[in-house]
Amino acid sequence: MMRQFELVELVKTYDPSADEGILNRAYVYSMKAHGSQLRASGDPYFSHPVEVAGILAGMKLDAASIVTGLLHDTVEDTVATLDDIERLFGSEIARLVDGVTKLSRIELQSDQTKQAENFRKLVLAMSEDIRVLLVKLADRLHNMQTLNFIESSEKRRRIARETMDIYAPLAERIGMHRMKDDLEDLAFAELSPDVRASIVARLDFLRRKETDIIPLIQSELDRKLRENDLSGALITGREKSPYSIWRKMQKKDVGFEQLSDVMAFRILVNDVGECYHALGVIHSAYHVVPGRFKDYISTPKPNGYRSLHTGVIGPERQRIEVQIRTHEMHEVAEYGVAAHWTYKQNAGNTEGPQYRWLRELLDILKHTAGPEEFLENTKLEMFPDQVFAFTPKGDLIALPRGATPIDFAYAVHSEIGDRCVGAKINGRIAPLRTVLANGDQVEIITSKAQTPSPTWEEFVVTGKARARIRRFIRTQERAQYLKLGRAIVQKAFRHEGQDFSERAVEPLLKRFDCANVEDLYVAVGEGVVTGRQVVNAAFPQKEEAKSKVVSLAHARRKARQNDAAVSIRGLIPGMAMHLAACCHPLPGDRIVGIVTTGKGVTIHTMDCETLENFTDTPERWLDVAWSSSESELVHVGRVSVTIENVPGSLGTVATVIGKQGGNISNLKVTNRSLDFFELMIDVEVADVKHLTTIIGALRANRVIHSVERARG
Ligand code: MN
Repeated sequence: MMRQFELVELVKTYDPSADEGILNRAYVYSMKAHGSQLRASGDPYFSHPVEVAGILAGMKLDAASIVTGLLHDTVEDTVATLDDIERLFGSEIARLVDGVTKLSRIELQSDQTKQAENFRKLVLAMSEDIRVLLVKLADRLHNMQTLNFIESSEKRRRIARETMDIYAPLAERIGMHRMKDDLEDLAFAELSPDVRASIVARLDFLRRKETDIIPLIQSELDRKLRENDLSGALITGREKSPYSIWRKMQKKDVGFEQLSDVMAFRILVNDVGECYHALGVIHSAYHVVPGRFKDYISTPKPNGYRSLHTGVIGPERQRIEVQIRTHEMHEVAEYGVAAHWTYKQNAGNTEGPQYRWLRELLDILKHTAGPEEFLENTKLEMFPDQVFAFTPKGDLIALPRGATPIDFAYAVHSEIGDRCVGAKINGRIAPLRTVLANGDQVEIITSKAQTPSPTWEEFVVTGKARARIRRFIRTQERAQYLKLGRAIVQKAFRHEGQDFSERAVEPLLKRFDCANVEDLYVAVGEGVVTGRQVVNAAFPQKEEAKSKVVSLAHARRKARQNDAAVSIRGLIPGMAMHLAACCHPLPGDRIVGIVTTGKGVTIHTMDCETLENFTDTPERWLDVAWSSSESELVHVGRVSVTIENVPGSLGTVATVIGKQGGNISNLKVTNRSLDFFELMIDVEVADVKHLTTIIGALRANRVIHSVERARG
């Protein structure tokens, strides 16, 4: 644990004018307040605020932040009150401690709704002073570093998940990459210990094989730069973190072997000119990997990050990633907002690039209905890259990347979305499915006669647009079913030689679990109840009548069971449907239906090879999509796996799949040679993402040579 004078000295090294007195008083006050309390680790509780203060001092933060770090748990966990803090340390510190305390309080709740509500409060609290978030992140980092002392695995997982979902993205958003990497890797170790362990094992294996290659490459790069008058350049090399390797494996859907650049090198120089000079040296000395060069100096990232990135086949014929930037840019890249000494003077000033997202987030907060909706909106939309488009009046509309004019229209106003018939992008008419680019000016053309089209749902990306379109389709469907159902019932009556009247149907409502006649028509229209059943129920003397009456609840349940794997939109109600055995489509896959006379519709994945047989008959293709609500259902995915023919390798496969929550429902050896086994494995999974995770986990394993999803 850092001692009092060490902390003060550390702060003094970067801020000689810091108020020593207040640091000393806060240290002593916190120590006394926490008294004999202990951490789960058995350490005195007081060690925690001191470590948090140490992390903050490591980020070179101002004295007020460090004092807040020391005091952050006193109000929540000791007899100290906010009034005490204000009296002893002033109103600024009290306000900061209060902000952090509020966050800690809401953190104690766990379910989804509360998490969403917490997040909302978190954003509101930190929007008042970004230092609240900085202290909170340091607090979270130390808690993650000591996570293994918590006994309940459920609690550990919850904290790790929250860190991954909320705190790491927040750190990234304010440009604190070092913090983000640390938080992610600690959370990864808790959430996927097996996957992480196998990646670490693979890295160890590579390292043994290659004898430590990083210093070799580093000195070679150093020599090249020196030869070209860049003797001041500072070069560091490192392996990427297990989590960033894992994420790349998932994103690119590749195995560990194909992921050749697990080493990254950083070149720090004195000014922008030297950045491009160094880039020139690297590019003329080594082969450039196409598509890897990015210039974030001329176009910084929204969070303020600046750097040159490139990939080359470097020394030792290794594929490496190289980042080139100035020392100053590096400070910003590592510590983000914390690197800017200015926030102290401008607390509350939210103008820098890092703060733009905060304003948008506050805007979402104001306009969302419930906390869940908010969490969905923010989780999906706040963290991935965004695109910023403008209304003709110049108002900024922030949308998730991939958004279309329909999303834009709904973001402006629900009514405008519903009535949208066309769009002008930068003054020219463009299709509604056009993906918007940053800076586009979008003018929505509306018509009172227009209503939302079901086809829009295929390309919108915002939750708001999707929800509006779906709601509209649902009411429209009900109207159609009602009309259809009424016609069917009338026809059934006529068929049996009976006069139809609503009065004849009314006494049957209870029997079919319907509240009113309309509900019954809808049930008939949906095909849950047949017209004949209604007639038979109305005239029970008819043969077999009784036995054929089925309660609506039962019928619906049955219909739903038949639909079990179904939940596919775009099908005609009542049409038979099955999932193709060649490609085993999973929720999340892009799919297409093929109509077969007498057999209904077969659902294939978009890339299934079988589809080639149908290229000449476009009339049989049906546009379908998964409906999103059915993720609890189990689906079967098929993978083909090649493993080394060594004892225990089959067991490893089974264990890896099991640990990722997959259930093997079928397994077949399709090929067997001296060295390798080929297996076809059917795995029960929730959706395609689940299957991708399993495939990734398998690929991370050394005895497993290759894993592919079976495609037709
Ligand atoms: Mn704490």
